[in-house]
Amino acid sequence: MTSDILIVDDTVENIRLLSKLLKDEGYQVRGAADGKTALMLCDKKPPSLILLDIMMPGLSGYDVCRQLKEQPATKDIPVIFLSALNELSDKIHAFQAGGVDYISKPFEALEVLARVSTHARIVALQRSLMEKNAQLKMLAETDSLTGLFNRRYLISKVKASSVHYSVILFDIDDFKQVNDQYGHQFGDEVLISLSNRVIELCREQDIAARWGGEEFLIYLPEADQQQANALAEMLRLSINQCGIEPAGNISASFGVASQIQGENLELLIKLADSALYRAKLKGKNCVELALPP
Ligand code: GH3
Ligand code: MG
Ligand code: MG
Repeated sequence: MTSDILIVDDTVENIRLLSKLLKDEGYQVRGAADGKTALMLCDKKPPSLILLDIMMPGLSGYDVCRQLKEQPATKDIPVIFLSALNELSDKIHAFQAGGVDYISKPFEALEVLARVSTHARIVALQRSLMEKNAQLKMLAETDSLTGLFNRRYLISKVKASSVHYSVILFDIDDFKQVNDQYGHQFGDEVLISLSNRVIELCREQDIAARWGGEEFLIYLPEADQQQANALAEMLRLSINQCGIEPAGNISASFGVASQIQGENLELLIKLADSALYRAKLKGKNCVELALPP
């Protein structure tokens, strides 16, 4: 991605010279003749880098830089000061205001290009690192087939939370038969379609995870047994009503367990699993509540 550079200088001739220099190197360039305009342009669309004059009427370059550093949307934009002030104290002041570099005026074209290119490269590397991190986070937290969260993510979220909660454990009925009859790929499509129903029906704060092959666990913070039971019943109906051709209706069996005396996740899952087992024994396609531990 080409870097978008904002040049801020009250001497329009400087903007013109720097713009030409940078445009010739392939950068996109915008200009602002005062601090207020610079802040407004940054607010509208944060540039990837700023060349900032210090002595300007109204807001000084230091003021502009400090204000940029206070806003989450602009605080990471690297600011290179460009100034005729040449005392050591001016340079230190510039770095204290949040600048990453300092170029003395009158500037040398090659020096400007070298410093801009260094900081533009750092910006590009930071961006790509952030994108990679987001991808890794997604891979680490979700199940690649269904897009639901995975077991590890659900456990970490429950551990980090201190509110009371319920869990719903459910398992698709006779799924082996579905696979045997219509093939594994069709089975995968069923898992995806069913997961979409789960995402649709869960509340925003719930975490639905693929717990194992055809087994799912939903964590419901601040939900009591009655609320969890109601969601499980809605899910059961929704899954059972979605005919997936050519197999027709699919069903699932549910076990619901709620914290009563601060039971831990492991115990709650055990209780939900026993309830699920009873649901299967009762003939499947139903919801069973956990018995008290
Ligand atoms: P029950 O009603 O008692 O739960 O019977 P079931 O057939 O669903 O249970 P069983 O444990 O016998 O079989 C589970 C099946 O789920 C077998 C396995 O191939 C299938 N399965 C597990 N993970 C996946 C997957 O990712 N994709 C597909 N297509 N099938 C899967
Ligand atoms: Mg000036
Ligand atoms: Mg099953």
